[in-house]
Amino acid sequence: MTTPTKEGSAAVQARRVLVLNSGSSSVKYQLLDMENRSRLAIGLVERIGEETSRLLHTPLTGGAATRERMGRIADHEAALKAAAEELAADGLGLDSPELASIGHRVVHGGLRFTEPTVITEEVLAEIERLVPVAPLHNPANIIGIRTAQVLRPDLPQVAVFDTAFHTTMPEYAARYAIDVETADAHRIRRYGFHGTSHAYVSRKAAELLGRTPEEVNVIVLHLGNGASASAVAGGRCVETSMGLTPLEGLVMGTRSGDIDPAVTFHLTRVAGMSVDEIDVLLNKRSGLVGLCGDNDMREIRRRIDEGDERAALAFDIYVHRLKKYIGAYSAVLGRVDAVVFTAGVGENSAPVREAAIAGLEEFGLAVDAGLNAVRSGEPRLISPDYARVAVAVVPTDEELEIAGQTFALVERLGRTAQPGQAEPLGRVDN
Ligand code: AMP
Repeated sequence: MTTPTKEGSAAVQARRVLVLNSGSSSVKYQLLDMENRSRLAIGLVERIGEETSRLLHTPLTGGAATRERMGRIADHEAALKAAAEELAADGLGLDSPELASIGHRVVHGGLRFTEPTVITEEVLAEIERLVPVAPLHNPANIIGIRTAQVLRPDLPQVAVFDTAFHTTMPEYAARYAIDVETADAHRIRRYGFHGTSHAYVSRKAAELLGRTPEEVNVIVLHLGNGASASAVAGGRCVETSMGLTPLEGLVMGTRSGDIDPAVTFHLTRVAGMSVDEIDVLLNKRSGLVGLCGDNDMREIRRRIDEGDERAALAFDIYVHRLKKYIGAYSAVLGRVDAVVFTAGVGENSAPVREAAIAGLEEFGLAVDAGLNAVRSGEPRLISPDYARVAVAVVPTDEELEIAGQTFALVERLGRTAQPGQAEPLGRVDN
């Protein structure tokens, strides 16, 4: 893409994309060069608004070391300005004509946003309208977008939605079996999350198998602190484990995953707990941390090695849930070409992979102990040659996926698009 310089004379190639992932008290950022899909710098601002804010910035060109800034960073605007200063110090200033766009991770796009979308006031209003179904995430994403708009009002900014990849789920998978009028009035349905990761990893898995995404059916297990499974048929998501919110499904670091909804009525009536208390219980004090006090799989494995029974039970519950989903999604897909592990636990924990696949020979699944033990940052197969279904580890890269989708969209739009004038290219479904 070509863009005029500030002087309006010689043209330069605008091939950089800044990816922003704004949380309630943190901002993660990466600057990528889409010419060769390489990272130029990465950074994180955490504990925004506290006295102990911290910025960590790592330039990835020129061999400079990570820099740290400690001390209060008042708000997201200050955080982004501090990040911009760090980038400028590396000669990667955000005022550069080489910056093509800013891509924002937006957690909830509802049913409307099925594709990456150029952010207009109308798009922002719709993201705002979805706050009741994503109260923790969407407000932080909106603040990140507003701040970035102040920084570079001339640039097209793009929202890439965590829910988008799952909008292809058939109605019978997405709907809860509750009263239809109530569900529709409050937009209650299964949306799914981690969509950029499921999209990226399922595509990479097809590549690893030497096939096109259209040719393969895969089960993706995104096992990070948050965890979700998806069934992807011919490149399209047909089922996923997270629902209206990221609470449903697998056992996670601090979230319960699937649970009988009557537990909430029971806790209200019997334990006198408020809705907010139950919300905190299920989202923050459950999952691995609720079961054994630790949510880091490394620590849990260490405790198991020392004979800790609570840690062992937590591990077994975690793995049992995974197995149930592998079985269920095998049935949903009919034919499975690969089961793919990704994210912090999936990429690094050989014991979790081994235990999740153990006993599934009848499903055509097996893990080769030697291959499973290899540590690598590359996509790789860990199943033996004889296995009918491949088992793979594919490192996820949500930032690269967001940058790629953002860049592809602004390239299609061309530089004529200005914020506020551009039409969202996303298919509008409601
Ligand atoms: P994520 O949310 O994808 O960053 O994953 C974070 C989680 O990955 C941590 O809470 C750990 O449970 C897990 N994890 C990270 N590194 C390892 C490792 N080397 N071995 C086992 N688990 C790991």
